Amino acid sequence: MAYYADIILPLSLPKPYTYGVLESQEKHLKTGMRVAVPFGKTKVYTGIVAKIHQDKPALYEVKYIEEILDETPIVTLKQLEIWQWIAAYYLCNIGEVLKAALPSALLLESETVVELNKEKEIQVEELSDQEYLIYEALQQKSILKVQEIMGILGLKKVLPIIQAMATKDVVVINQELYKQYKPKLVRYVKISEAYRDQEQLTAFLATIQKAAPKQYEVMLSYFSIEASTKKPITPKQLAEAAKTTPSTIKSLVSKGVLDEYYLQHDRMGFQGDTASSSPVLTPHQTAAFEAINTAFLDKNVCLLHGVTSSGKTEVYVKLIEAQLQQDKQVLFMVPEIGLTTQLIARLQRYFGEEVQVYHSRNSVNERVETYQHVLTQTKGKIVIGTRSAVFLPFKNLGLIIVDEEHETTYKQYDPAPRYNARDISVLLAQKFNAKVLLGSATPSLESYDNAKKEKYALVELTKRYGNVLPPAIQLVDLKQKYKRKQMTGHFSDTLLQEMKTCLGEGKQVILFQNRRGYSPILECNTCGFSPQCPNCDVSLTYHKHNHSLRCHYCGYHIAMQLQCMGCGSTEISTKGFGTEQIETELKSVFKDYKIARMDLDTTRGKYACEKIISEFEQQQIDILVGTQMLAKGLDFRNVALVGIMNADTLLNYPDFRAHERCFQLLVQVSGRAGRTKEQGKVLIQSFNPNHQILQQVTTNQYAKMAEEQLYERKNFKYPPSYKLIRVVVKHKDYNAVNEAADWLTKAYQNAFKEYVLGPEFPPVMRIRNAYIKYILIKVPPAYSLQKTKAYLERINISFSAIGAFRKIRLNVNVDPY
Ligand code: ADP
Ligand code: ZN
Ligand code: ZN
Repeated sequence: MAYYADIILPLSLPKPYTYGVLESQEKHLKTGMRVAVPFGKTKVYTGIVAKIHQDKPALYEVKYIEEILDETPIVTLKQLEIWQWIAAYYLCNIGEVLKAALPSALLLESETVVELNKEKEIQVEELSDQEYLIYEALQQKSILKVQEIMGILGLKKVLPIIQAMATKDVVVINQELYKQYKPKLVRYVKISEAYRDQEQLTAFLATIQKAAPKQYEVMLSYFSIEASTKKPITPKQLAEAAKTTPSTIKSLVSKGVLDEYYLQHDRMGFQGDTASSSPVLTPHQTAAFEAINTAFLDKNVCLLHGVTSSGKTEVYVKLIEAQLQQDKQVLFMVPEIGLTTQLIARLQRYFGEEVQVYHSRNSVNERVETYQHVLTQTKGKIVIGTRSAVFLPFKNLGLIIVDEEHETTYKQYDPAPRYNARDISVLLAQKFNAKVLLGSATPSLESYDNAKKEKYALVELTKRYGNVLPPAIQLVDLKQKYKRKQMTGHFSDTLLQEMKTCLGEGKQVILFQNRRGYSPILECNTCGFSPQCPNCDVSLTYHKHNHSLRCHYCGYHIAMQLQCMGCGSTEISTKGFGTEQIETELKSVFKDYKIARMDLDTTRGKYACEKIISEFEQQQIDILVGTQMLAKGLDFRNVALVGIMNADTLLNYPDFRAHERCFQLLVQVSGRAGRTKEQGKVLIQSFNPNHQILQQVTTNQYAKMAEEQLYERKNFKYPPSYKLIRVVVKHKDYNAVNEAADWLTKAYQNAFKEYVLGPEFPPVMRIRNAYIKYILIKVPPAYSLQKTKAYLERINISFSAIGAFRKIRLNVNVDPY
């Protein structure tokens, strides 16, 4: 009987596609391997074998697998199960999950390539000028990719030219699978076989000693390096040791004295020193460590609620150590990599080469290397990674730590799958019978609720390391300060005074403002006009340093306008303020201090963020102004004061999570103050100092905040009590969006009654020229989420079948953030 294979393709298809397995492939093919399969008229894709079976598809004639691309499976059965779960839970296609899960370099793509037709005598004079250029290039390089031909001709549209050449039989057009991943090869030198012979060598050295002293120096350096290390020697290292240039080494290679050779090399490697022993836990930390171990005896997930600077990392280190002793793999999830250099360095100090780092800023090749190390367990049992690390092919996982588990970056917005890596980590752990530790000083209400309901265990660490007191938090009433004219720019006299004292004592200051740029709104005093983004429904933000007006949603920018674009008046004022304006004001008040800014604009380069952090650490910066990036687990030793410029924008954000978020952000930012010995100080400026959330922040009442918020969420039917599904309708035509959203809302209401909210435009209703409308479906705890989703999908399918709605983009976000 013939065999068939269901193949997952990296496309938005509702189901895997079934292909025929050739007899010659039967023995070799296994689930989880990559295969090249034809799809559509001419395309070849890399797919993953999801299932091998003997059920011939009834409805279509199968095509056959063209090539098996792996010797052994690169996707495990557990991964396949998780992919299926994600597709079902988040209502997306499994192909979309595949694309998110595998490093892109593992998915080979077919490419159109052109070769000369060897069977044909080519009459050069019959070729046009462009054709001749291609012909000439093909004579030098037998195969050309379309991309390369575009480069040669300096043209975008080259296919018609190639096709014309194919019709004349000058060239043949082919599809070739193009392998993206290339192992990195490092060049080394060693002494050649012939000169290993002592006599030969001595003779040679004698000839060059006078004639070529530099080469002589290189040879001596070579022997001295060889004597001191067994490691291979690079040309660069040798040139440096001999204080000469690589060309000297090249001459020795061409003389046949030195041989060049190549070794495959990992792109990332740890080269520092490791500490000899792990940290000694304080009694509080020991108690927490033991409580976690006890909790894991009967619960799979434990929430570690540890105040800022309580030393959660030290507890993690002990837990990781225990896993390594059992030879288990550990996944350590972090919200963002740029802000994690400190943590990575700390873990590397303890675990050295066992630590691997996996995130989207790695190059495609680095990602493949880590993927393969995890799969084969050849290196590094500990993986530190951002959300996509939950997709790695673990074989022997013992523990997942989700640090700063309340962070929203664990949820992927766009594109599908819109998954939450914290939630997936619980599922992933289940597959291995492994444990999950969620850590935070301000747990998400979802996790806290699970702990209160005893679904998760709860362990608390209430004391800071070294028994340092939590920072003293004071509110500053901006209404009063403005009335009494005690403001300098956006600084109250209280804040300025505290800053002066702090800086005078040689301490550092952190200032938090949740907006980047100089000022978000530019307004004409005469006619009230303010420049808007032409593509999005927002005002342009003024950026002073490059005199531009920028859209933070689509990147559109124009030069700063000195005259009103509406009436030509020069009376223009700015409203609102961002980090850049704070920085400017600071520079005029604190002339003698070094001031730096950390926000999206100053951290774009690969290591920009790391640079600011390390300069601040080494106290080359006195005052650091920044956005919420500052709230993410950074550990600075010398910060005595944290100032929050304005807490109100956080409180007034139109979202049901705004209060929870505001609390988390303020507590996290405050936690950067006073991490050693002396108590730190925090000043929060606000027009609403009596707001209950601000009061709860100053008195450090997480539990009270959580209980109040959970009560409100339940009353107003929001998570975690109710589940949410958000349907997003998008189109560039305003009326089309409205009609589509109305149709869908009616259909949903028929099914889910009063549990449908909307349709409603979000605060920014147009982004990149597309109008956006939301419909929200609330799923009560007693309802089956699965049935609700099945129903929803059926409605969405009917929707897509309506001709008038064909162009509408529809996406579904389960558990939106
Ligand atoms: P958290 O992550 O809970 O905010 P950290 O793990 O960053 O706290 O710890 C705060 C600081 O205290 C760090 O600089 C850390 O090195 C130090 N620290 C915590 N526990 C210990 C310990 N047991 N021994 C030595 N230093 C510790
Ligand atoms: Zn005007
Ligand atoms: Zn825009």
